[in-house]
Amino acid sequence: MEQNKQGKLIIISGPSGAGKGTICAELMKQMPDLIMSRSATTRAPRPNERKNRSYFFVSTETFLEMVRNNELLEYDQHFENYYGTPKKFVLDMLKFGKDVILEIEVNGALQVKQNYPDSILFFIEAPSEQAIYERLKKRGTESEEKIQIRMARNKLELAQRHKYDYCIMNDDVDRAVAEIIDILKTRR
Ligand code: 5GP
Repeated sequence: MEQNKQGKLIIISGPSGAGKGTICAELMKQMPDLIMSRSATTRAPRPNERKNRSYFFVSTETFLEMVRNNELLEYDQHFENYYGTPKKFVLDMLKFGKDVILEIEVNGALQVKQNYPDSILFFIEAPSEQAIYERLKKRGTESEEKIQIRMARNKLELAQRHKYDYCIMNDDVDRAVAEIIDILKTRR
């Protein structure tokens, strides 16, 4: 009997404001077989985020309980909050042969790569710092102070991009998505 092929972990990371969310949404549209992982976070929901649709919004106590119970594939603390990937769902999907996308920051991405060396890591870059700033400003979800904190962290993330399998320049979403899809097809 043919053995079901194990799925792959696909990591999309890069600076806050580089357009990762748009790229993931477009990937899901064009490759409907992909499964998107949903993270747990202690951050408060933004007005446009429906509770438990974008993230599992949990208390710090619940999050730390998940850490203690080894329920997370990876996690990180940044922007004064915890963010992590619930493990069971992702591993079940991989077992079913599904490829799973994680949209996570650099520390989490590198933890995953260490534990699952077969993962495919994409670092999404924006054409300039100004482009990132304008995107964050336009999104309107963060105060100027919080935008500045995100911009500062972006520099740290950028310094780690050589650890990724692929860097994708998001100067044009359609082109960036097409590039990712081409790579995924060759890695199948
Ligand atoms: P935001 O607050 O804008 O939704 O997310 C802030 C950062 O957290 C983004 O860079 C996002 O990719 C990252 N992030 C979201 N979920 C996770 C997760 O489960 N693990 C890690 N390590 N980072 C995450």
